[in-house]
Amino acid sequence: MNDQPDMIIVGAGLSGLLTAWRCLDVNPELSVLVIEGSDRIAGDHTWSFNLTDVDESLRDWIKPFIAYQWDSYDVKFPKRERTLDIAYCTGNSETLRACVQPHIDSGRLQVRLNTKAAELTEDSVTLERGEVLTANCVLDARGFKPNDNVFLGYQKFVGHVIKTAKPHGVKRPIIMDATVKQLGGYRFVYCLPYSETEILVEDTYYTDGPELQRQEVDARIKDYIRDNLGVSDYEMVRREKGVLPITLAVNELEFNNIQKIGIRGGFYHAVTGYSFPVALKTADSSAFNLDFYYSDAKKHSPFYDYRANKHISGHIKKERFLRLLNRMLFRAAKPEERYKVLQRFYGLPQGLIERFYAGTLTKADKLRILTGKPPVHVTKALYNFSEKAFIKRERAKRESE
Ligand SMILES: Cc1cc2nc3c(=O)[nH]c(=O)nc-3n(C[C@H](O)[C@H](O)[C@H](O)COP(=O)(O)OP(=O)(O)OC[C@H]3O[C@@H](n4cnc5c(N)ncnc54)[C@H](O)[C@@H]3O)c2cc1C
Repeated sequence: MNDQPDMIIVGAGLSGLLTAWRCLDVNPELSVLVIEGSDRIAGDHTWSFNLTDVDESLRDWIKPFIAYQWDSYDVKFPKRERTLDIAYCTGNSETLRACVQPHIDSGRLQVRLNTKAAELTEDSVTLERGEVLTANCVLDARGFKPNDNVFLGYQKFVGHVIKTAKPHGVKRPIIMDATVKQLGGYRFVYCLPYSETEILVEDTYYTDGPELQRQEVDARIKDYIRDNLGVSDYEMVRREKGVLPITLAVNELEFNNIQKIGIRGGFYHAVTGYSFPVALKTADSSAFNLDFYYSDAKKHSPFYDYRANKHISGHIKKERFLRLLNRMLFRAAKPEERYKVLQRFYGLPQGLIERFYAGTLTKADKLRILTGKPPVHVTKALYNFSEKAFIKRERAKRESE
């Protein structure tokens, strides 16, 4: 690589590395520098998704990222149990590192670890230690940061990966087990059986604030493992916790995500807080918009025409409907009855459920979700319908606090 790379990506997490990997695969002449604040790329994570979230044209490409794949999964509610024949996949830090390694080996992807960026412009990065790096384009993939123009609820969870002495008996993922006691919001347990004797058990809460009572949640996971899985002899392999943003409203006129990718730019599913599917679309659409960068006339412009990249410019607008559903869930349903919204949703046709997670709902799907007897307070639903009015009220609340 010459001294100046074509592209700098700040943040070697999921979105930064997926984008680097895709752009380098698609553009054989490209060079990329990734700057990472911690001591390794890709961290220590797992990322799950429905295979139907991934465009068919990308399914072969994404294969090396997938560490585990199941043919179907279960959901459980007090009045509904269902198996969905949707392939469910999990990738992790190790597989993500392996996906970019050939580009590191070839020298087209350079990585600077333990290096924190302080300031970014469209073609430069100022490091905390003062050094200034330049490139034809700079992308900000530094992960979540609160934003004044975004109004949130939260999905919070603690997960235990355990190794059991005997087979635990869970045959396929349980994406939501909401038969557990509902505590202060929508609560469910999520189980991923990695093998006959290894399983992730995660206790999840959809609540208004980001606080997490970690010790209490740890105790509830142990109870679930004992009472619901019937497992008593096991050892802990790994623990994880997360607090994910669930978007209730966005002031679209002021929200600026130019140059940002991943959750930094609001590129996640508004209802689940999961970002893999959108990060993948961002990576792919970025890779195919680099033509702009190669054109001499525009050599010194930002690396691609943001407005021309419909995935990037359209994402926040496209999620309006999902934000409406969140306002219904968080503000129109009683906390202890929020599970009913999901219980009803999981009675809908499988194709609609697939499109919901893939972010490709049709108008007919949206109508279908909204029609029927809603398990929410109708007056509160109407009160929270308008995003603009919601933002106005929330701003007034913030200012008075
Ligand atoms: C525990 C947990 C489990 C999750 N599970 C899933 C899941 O199963 N499926 C899914 O789709 N989503 C999941 N998510 C949500 C989301 O997909 C992840 O948070 C995802 O990693 C976000 O990707 P990102 O690239 O935007 O940010 P990150 O992956 O967080 O990457 C940001 C990177 O930027 C670096 N950085 C930050 N500041 C600087 C700086 N100043 N200079 C240089 N580097 C910097 C960080 O060290 C980090 O490596 C999960 C989140 C958590 C927390």
